[in-house]
Amino acid sequence: MDLNKLADALIPDENVKPLSYYEERYPERNLEKGAEVTRLAPSPTGFMHLGNLYVALANERIAHQSGGVFFLRIEDTDEKRKVEGAVEVIHSSLKYFGVEFDEGADLSGEYGPYYQRQRAEIYHAYAKELIKKGLAYPCFCTEEDLEKTRERQTENKLLPGYYGEFAKCRNLSEEQIYENLKAGKPYVIRLRSQGDVEKKSTFRDAIKGDITVTENNQDVVILKSDGIPTYHFAHAIDDHFMRTTLVLRGEEWLSSLPIHIELFKVLGFRLPKYGHNCSIQKIDGETRRKLSKRKDPEASLTFYREEGYHKLAVKTYMMTLLNSNFEEWMLKFPDKPLDEFKYSIGKMGKSGALFDILKLNDIAKTVMSNLSAEEMYDFLKDWANDYGTDEQKGYFADKEYMLKVLTLCMGIGGKKRRKDFVCAKQAVEMISYFFDGSFAPNYAYRFDNATVKKILSDFKAAYAYADDCSAWFDKVKAVAAASGFATDMKAYKANPENYPGNVSDAAEMLRIATTGLSNTPDLWTIMQILGEERTLARLEKAVSAL
Ligand code: GLU
Repeated sequence: MDLNKLADALIPDENVKPLSYYEERYPERNLEKGAEVTRLAPSPTGFMHLGNLYVALANERIAHQSGGVFFLRIEDTDEKRKVEGAVEVIHSSLKYFGVEFDEGADLSGEYGPYYQRQRAEIYHAYAKELIKKGLAYPCFCTEEDLEKTRERQTENKLLPGYYGEFAKCRNLSEEQIYENLKAGKPYVIRLRSQGDVEKKSTFRDAIKGDITVTENNQDVVILKSDGIPTYHFAHAIDDHFMRTTLVLRGEEWLSSLPIHIELFKVLGFRLPKYGHNCSIQKIDGETRRKLSKRKDPEASLTFYREEGYHKLAVKTYMMTLLNSNFEEWMLKFPDKPLDEFKYSIGKMGKSGALFDILKLNDIAKTVMSNLSAEEMYDFLKDWANDYGTDEQKGYFADKEYMLKVLTLCMGIGGKKRRKDFVCAKQAVEMISYFFDGSFAPNYAYRFDNATVKKILSDFKAAYAYADDCSAWFDKVKAVAAASGFATDMKAYKANPENYPGNVSDAAEMLRIATTGLSNTPDLWTIMQILGEERTLARLEKAVSAL
């Protein structure tokens, strides 16, 4: 068969350049020895899984720690999965967690275009070359033909796929091919696999160590009928021409490795290193399963932003999942920036990483409790601007007021720093009572209305903003005493039945009236922050609600 003629008929010369052009256009990168070129190659589905951050972080660390390059390639060959704005989501969500690319889609870079759909010419040039060498051929099988083959294979308990005797178009004669072409039959281009499934070899995976790989014998599709490459083919060409040195990707691609090894071989490209990282799993009842996009809200990166997890908390937690010795390092150097940790691919888990949200929450609490008032202000404000209600956005208009609120409520700078805040959403909700627009009290007093009313009214009459903490408390005591409440706790404890309550019960009424809550930080300070007018208005509101 005249293969050159066939190659010309299938892929005309005017659509491609000579292969030497591409090698020159995308030269070896000029990097120090040992520098790794890594990449993230997501499909633009608009959904960012926690696993994307996990693998991105590993790739980013390895590239940057070695003085290499980390780039973003968009694998948009599947039109159906494409979502508008998805690339922006990839950039913004990863950037939020401190993962930034050196080059790639929507960034500059010498090895682009970084969208696969814009690289059709290169794929076509190489598909043409393979056809010329007899290493690829057109396949005219219809969906129905393939379905029939599948049925036969299932019936006879044979391996599925397009190979050996099942590869019907592998041995079409020249006449048959041209007849089909003339008849306008749609076709795909398939690899003419040279492999043998009986042959196995040891392959060194950068994460999993030595693994056994069986040769590929599938005549996989390399160009679909619309001329768009399959993932396999595009991967080999792109990672060659983008000069990737290490392909670090999810272990779901491990089963495709034999195909990729063969493709690199027939294309005459040097195989990069591969590392297949384990998936993130969680315990679900009795079983352990993959974190699922459908079932687990925490599988989505958006979840962490909506809840307002501090980026450092998520990144730190990811690092504990990624490198087994990270935690030890962190305990030793709690104040060092994460990037100083020496990341090692050899310390990545070989089997599933177990996601434990309680552990993430613990880390998040520590991160939150280390923020200064200013940092806390900025963090909560940024969250509110992106995910808060309009009301919550408004909380940050008066910075001075908010700093006082945060200092008190978080115990910032005090002896009792609160360590129970996990995320911004929780923190912002907790301080809502400081803002009239959100103040929606559910007054739950433990005393009858008449008693409460008297105590609140008496206190309101006596309240003076200028009182210091002890003068203020004297007034609380006086008000309590006027209603027969005990002010001497010892006396009260000796004979509680002699009193309707004690001074702390009275203080609780004031607390509920002012904040809607029975448990808050120091009430005198709260009233100082609220200011005289607002404090009196709240007491008034509470009285009239009785
Ligand atoms: N496009 C593939 C994905 O969406 C990339 C796999 C790879 O990293 O090679 O997961």
